[in-house]
Amino acid sequence: MTDSPTLPPKSWPELQPGWVWLCGAGPGDPGLLTLHALNALQQADVVVYDALVGSDILEWAGGAELIYAGKRGGKPSAKQRDISLHLIELARKGKRVLRLKGGDPFVFGRGGEEAQTLVQHGIPVRIIPGISAGIGGLAYAGIPVTHRDVNQSVTFVTGHDQSGTTPGSLDWEGIARGSQVIVIYMGMKHISHITESLMAAGRSSSEPLAFVTSATLENQKVVESTLGSAVTDAKAEGVEPPAIICIGRSVLMRQVLDWQSMEAGLSPRNLDPLGRGRPAESA
Ligand code: SAH
Repeated sequence: MTDSPTLPPKSWPELQPGWVWLCGAGPGDPGLLTLHALNALQQADVVVYDALVGSDILEWAGGAELIYAGKRGGKPSAKQRDISLHLIELARKGKRVLRLKGGDPFVFGRGGEEAQTLVQHGIPVRIIPGISAGIGGLAYAGIPVTHRDVNQSVTFVTGHDQSGTTPGSLDWEGIARGSQVIVIYMGMKHISHITESLMAAGRSSSEPLAFVTSATLENQKVVESTLGSAVTDAKAEGVEPPAIICIGRSVLMRQVLDWQSMEAGLSPRNLDPLGRGRPAESA
């Protein structure tokens, strides 16, 4: 086991027995963990963690018991209930419970449901936000989720609901019309339905699209494509979940902002991918 990092001096909140702290672990790179998350890891008796929480991060849990609560098949709704009930049981036993989830606990992670169930059962909670894959994961790919020359809004979409189907309630026309940049979580299973719906709603087949898989981790992979070629390119490049999909011209910014290539000694492909013809700071 590696030594846990030291927290900077400050009076950090204390995880009390019988409490559950619902905490985001970020998209994967342990460096993206918050100090509050580290503080929680160092105090917890039990850490109940999801599939997308990296083992490096769990090594900082000291002597805590580690309980895996990731996907294991079965009915997702029943499983979610089991997890919540387990958290309640642990808290009632007087444990200091850390519920650790990938990314941010309140972004497509059912954290809101879990917290609500806990509070309904009289269990006190603290929420610790994390860096969501749809923002931090894209940043690691050199894609700014907003850019003044591209978008004034961004829409975060889930590609499937609890039953595993594309949410019927999604208004693809509204999404296509309303937001220059669309960021899709859990989109791989229904990628063809999603891209076809957006094109049917008027988005161009030539619009830039990127897949970022295992974002922020050592095996991060970025595949640049277009709305029209996404399905073919994903297959050809072997794009596998977990993947964040970004649709919009912000993907072009990667040509200048792919900082991981810079670290590898490569020059930017294009200093002005949006064709503005001016350095950004002159505006
Ligand atoms: N709460 C999480 C999202 C949970 S939903 C967050 O805020 O990031 C799970 C989905 O998140 C995955 O299917 C994938 O779309 C995305 N995701 C999470 N971690 C990722 C990573 N490291 N790389 C790419 N996508 C990731």
